[in-house]
Amino acid sequence: MSSAATRPAGPDRLWSVEEHLEDILTTVRPLDPIELQLLDAQGCVLVEDVMVPVSLPPFDNSSMDGYAVRVVDVAGASEEFPAVLEVVGDVAAGASDPVRVGPGQAARIMTGAPLPPGAEAVVPVEWTDGGLGEGPVSGMRARSLAPEGAEGHVRVHRSAEARAHVRAQGSDVRAGERALKAGTVLGPPQIALLAAIGRGTVRVRPRPRVVVLSTGSELVQPGEELAPGRIYDSNSFALTAAARDAGAIAYRVGAVADDAETLRSTIEDQLVRADLMVTTGGVSVGAYDVVKEALAHVGDADEAGGGVDFRRLAMQPGKPQGFGFVGPDHTPLLALPGNPVSSYVSFELFVRPAIRTLMGVGDVERPRTTAVLRTDRPLGSPKGRRQFLRGTHADGVVTPVGGAGSHLIAALARADALIVVPEDVESVEPGTEVEVVLLG
Ligand code: AMP
Ligand code: MG
Repeated sequence: MSSAATRPAGPDRLWSVEEHLEDILTTVRPLDPIELQLLDAQGCVLVEDVMVPVSLPPFDNSSMDGYAVRVVDVAGASEEFPAVLEVVGDVAAGASDPVRVGPGQAARIMTGAPLPPGAEAVVPVEWTDGGLGEGPVSGMRARSLAPEGAEGHVRVHRSAEARAHVRAQGSDVRAGERALKAGTVLGPPQIALLAAIGRGTVRVRPRPRVVVLSTGSELVQPGEELAPGRIYDSNSFALTAAARDAGAIAYRVGAVADDAETLRSTIEDQLVRADLMVTTGGVSVGAYDVVKEALAHVGDADEAGGGVDFRRLAMQPGKPQGFGFVGPDHTPLLALPGNPVSSYVSFELFVRPAIRTLMGVGDVERPRTTAVLRTDRPLGSPKGRRQFLRGTHADGVVTPVGGAGSHLIAALARADALIVVPEDVESVEPGTEVEVVLLG
């Protein structure tokens, strides 16, 4: 990538998408790990190797409802010549002191119940008369186990090999093995394993707390009446949802009026619950100074490493961007442009990677692919700016939806991909292979 040294510094410098992203990724640091309850750790990155304290299953147990038997007692058993065994008791799941199975005996056993001492195999109830037979000549074929407490005899009409229908102790994982590696992202199956081995808490990087704040005196909250000349605040909803989708705990702050002092005090108030701050609006040329001025006076901004840099990016939409650190803890802040599509695209390109970096996950960016462009006529794109057009992607083909206008929210709502048109390309012919960012 081109280095900062080869470009003019200060406000005249035009940053590439990569330069801006790299500035974010190299300065935002993963959050410190904490110990969390299992369900609070969902979606988080494990920072410890988790070892197995007790084997799974912890004891030999039955994989079927049936009868625990000795192999020799059912050897050669058939429909015609069933083995008739004395039922010495029941073994339910959770039984701590099961009966002993001696020669010529069987114990009725439930799925998951410990294999009783003396028994070598389980015959499923379907291979027996279910203990309902009265004597050696009964023809009954029960489909399910006899009622609770049924004593007497059971006829088994198939032989069983040793360990048949027995889930061996440690056949899942053994004590001392590694259950999960540090770096694993905890999804439902990983949480299942942690619970199964008895872990109540784990050490992870927490979900970042992201505060989303929109600016604009024209903004009205959805559900309220729209006065003339005003519009609903959609950005704070879009970005809060997107932050949550990226794995963050997101807090939406309603729209703040275009007043630097109000904005400054609101940001300062919010810092206490923020690992990352995101603002929208007030960074384009006309409105530039509100956010800039507000941020210049957020507590401790002048300290080394503090302050927010406002810059222009060689991209469309999303040319004006701000990035820096605010407050006593040097909380990272991204100031996004106000146009709804601009703010959303900026989120996907810059804020999502910042959130994923705070979480410590490996893949910080959205996946990309290439696809064949389907359009009626060539797509125009501004020279010197990387364009991100909205599109729908399926089966290696991408189709633009809506136009390039960064106010087109309805088209955005139909899109599932961004079509990337490089800086040096001013027109893309139908049928051209293009790069696509998959929005998931
Ligand atoms: P700004 O960058 O503040 O000048 O905003 C650019 C455009 O985006 C203006 O038309 C704003 O009305 C619009 N806009 C700004 N913030 C929001 C928001 N939170 N929701 C919807 N539109 C917005
Ligand atoms: Mg504004």
